[in-house]
Amino acid sequence: MTEPTSVKTNFIRQIIDEDLRTGKCTQVATRFPPEPNGYLHLGHVKSVYLNFGIAEDYQGNCNLRFDDTNPHKESMQFVESIMEDVRWLGFYLGERIYYASDYFERLYEFALELIDQGLAYVDDLTSEEIREYRGTLTKPGRESPYRNRTPTENRDLFQRMRNGEYLSGTKVLRAKIDMESPNINLRDPVLYRIRHEVVHHQTKANWCLYPTYDYTHPLSDALEGISHSLCTLEFEDHRPLYDWVLEHIRVPHRPQQIEFARLNMEYTILSKRKLTQLVENGIVEDWDDPRMPTVAGLRRRGYTPTALRTFAHRIGVTKSDSIVELSMLENCLREDLDAHAPRRMVVLNPLKLIIDNYPKEQVEYLDAPNHPKDKTLGTRKLPYGREIYIDKADFCEQAPKNYKRLILGGEVRLRNSYVVRCDTIVKDDQGEIQELHCCYDPETLGKNPVGRKVKGVIHWVAASHAIPMEIRLYERLFATATLESSKNIPKNKNSKDNNSKDEDNPLIANLNPDSLIVLTQALGEPSLATTQPEARFQFEREGYFIRDKLFGPEGRPVFNRAVTLRDTWAKIKTP
Ligand code: ATP
Ligand code: MG
Repeated sequence: MTEPTSVKTNFIRQIIDEDLRTGKCTQVATRFPPEPNGYLHLGHVKSVYLNFGIAEDYQGNCNLRFDDTNPHKESMQFVESIMEDVRWLGFYLGERIYYASDYFERLYEFALELIDQGLAYVDDLTSEEIREYRGTLTKPGRESPYRNRTPTENRDLFQRMRNGEYLSGTKVLRAKIDMESPNINLRDPVLYRIRHEVVHHQTKANWCLYPTYDYTHPLSDALEGISHSLCTLEFEDHRPLYDWVLEHIRVPHRPQQIEFARLNMEYTILSKRKLTQLVENGIVEDWDDPRMPTVAGLRRRGYTPTALRTFAHRIGVTKSDSIVELSMLENCLREDLDAHAPRRMVVLNPLKLIIDNYPKEQVEYLDAPNHPKDKTLGTRKLPYGREIYIDKADFCEQAPKNYKRLILGGEVRLRNSYVVRCDTIVKDDQGEIQELHCCYDPETLGKNPVGRKVKGVIHWVAASHAIPMEIRLYERLFATATLESSKNIPKNKNSKDNNSKDEDNPLIANLNPDSLIVLTQALGEPSLATTQPEARFQFEREGYFIRDKLFGPEGRPVFNRAVTLRDTWAKIKTP
């Protein structure tokens, strides 16, 4: 894998350097802790690259840890997709795959430690009451009437919670910290809740008691010997609780939490919750729809692991929020594919061109290089005959000035082939162009015509050997650059008793209606018939494409456009 080579430094690496220098830390250990409740997205790529990258560079370890404390929304499908995506990005997992649920027994014993110290209690308030008692940023909280239960009573109740003697939601275990703390996270946070109705994907029906994230995370980090626990900025206010848990429980190791800014991108959303809504409402095909900012979606769109790693490297890591331009991501892919993708010719909207001075039934095979610079990619044979197809956009009857393609009476070079001149146009009753009649100059293969200049070069395919294919042109999923304030999509957008209208919902109202255009008439050169799924190419003059896993009607191969050749959007956007 080609790795970004420029210097990788950021404030987190500076902290680590300092910790190693002072001896605060001797062995660097990080973790990437996704909750298996959705597919990984670009934001996770930033985190994966940061955590695994640091482990690699400091000869440490990085654990993949499934933060699976909320079985209600989790599944094995998500667990598997996450492992696959991390590996596909090029990071080695080996044996270092962990589940927070592996620690449930230990966490339970730790909770008893807190109870025995009088630092945790079983509360019978309902979740609404707990919320109400918690107070607000301006109003201190109130203590629960159950707060002063004795350790013996709490031990007994907690044991019975575990045994399944109480209904879901009727009791919780809370830390006893400070209901008047200015930090709401310290106002007796919930540590455990009861959930009977779900079967956990790992622990099955063994537990009906589930620890919360804030309780589980520091302890899992400690048990795994994590030195630097890197998370996004919204957890900054949780750090005092992270530290509180580790201060009051006897753990063998003391990790530190460091926060960094999450990745936000233009024209897309990086939130599993919102992405789930797109999938569940059928707005996209699935998690791997090529318009999705998921790793699976980007992969199907044509992104390479190298492009995504380069992107993660370039955006860097800081403490301040920003929105990254989409062109930054696309340029990473262009650079990679420009250097490595073989070239092919595909006509998206075919127009027939008949070369009247070329013998009927004759076919010749022309040599075409697979890459303009990288000779190691070799050459291929292109059949050339009397009838070929060019793109409709490459012929113009009333051409504007500077038009460098084919016009009536004008000449153009067929890429990797001869120069042709258009002599007549055949139209149907509606005035639509049906075909063009041309003649070719047999002296122009691989050399310029004598005594005249031909500027334009267009791509083409031989009619006799053309492969019908389906082309999918993808554009950004949303029409607006920033979707920060997007509310939820209603659960079922077609449901009659749902009063909210689609246009009221920012996610739906801001969808780009042209995010997918399917072209069914496209024709490609014969070498494209035998490509494997995920093979990537530059279709000359059209963009970079990847062979999809699906087939179109009549078994046609489907190709997705990964990215255009140039960033045309930047010009449109800034008038
Ligand atoms: P989402 O809001 O999409 O559900 P999350 O933070 O809840 O994201 P997790 O599965 O908990 O998702 O995330 C695993 C790791 O990835 C966490 O350490 C989290 O901080 C990090 N992460 C998630 N989203 C981003 C992002 N947009 N930018 C950087 N890191 C992210
Ligand atoms: Mg989360």
